[in-house]
Amino acid sequence: MGSAAGPLRVLVDMDGVLADFEGAVLRGFCSRFPGEPRVELAAREGFSVREQYRCLREDLGAKVASVYESPGFFLGLDPIPGALEAMQEMIHMQDTEVFICTSPLRKYEHCIVEKYKWVEKHLGPEFVERIILTRDKTVVSADLLFDDKDTIRGAELNPSWEHVLFTCCHNRHVQLQAPRRRLLSWADDWKAILESKRRQ
Ligand SMILES: [Mg+2]
Repeated sequence: MGSAAGPLRVLVDMDGVLADFEGAVLRGFCSRFPGEPRVELAAREGFSVREQYRCLREDLGAKVASVYESPGFFLGLDPIPGALEAMQEMIHMQDTEVFICTSPLRKYEHCIVEKYKWVEKHLGPEFVERIILTRDKTVVSADLLFDDKDTIRGAELNPSWEHVLFTCCHNRHVQLQAPRRRLLSWADDWKAILESKRRQ
């Protein structure tokens, strides 16, 4: 249950929801390791790209990780279509609080500062104020979380938010148990999902 009164609080994940992590991983892998087998986006399955490459061939896991651990990788991500427009609209909606809630890599050296720079570059300074960096999203309280990770676990067994699965290449095959729901893309009706939470 979310807050009974007061503004609706919405958490929006970054990689796979605002920033196109998967597309950049594939592009980076192809240019860095042109002769190696790769996983096309249509064949992606499972949240961890590293795990899927490792299953393809043991050493490919470390190779694909070297792509997203490189300096410049996170700053260079393209925005997901419609994401920037949706965020600008959401931040101006009445009785709505929006935060960007993102988990940095364990190898955080470039990732963290580049995530901040990405947000400033594409969304502006007011969104930099709204970044929540955490490896555990379950302890953050909100009404909604838009996230492409199919299963989100952490210290809090009953998170306050409803997790709406944002569709991404790696989770298209995941069958959700009712009443779980998806946002197919930013062209899908995210406003209806916000309104449905206000009525609760
Ligand atoms: Mg994500």
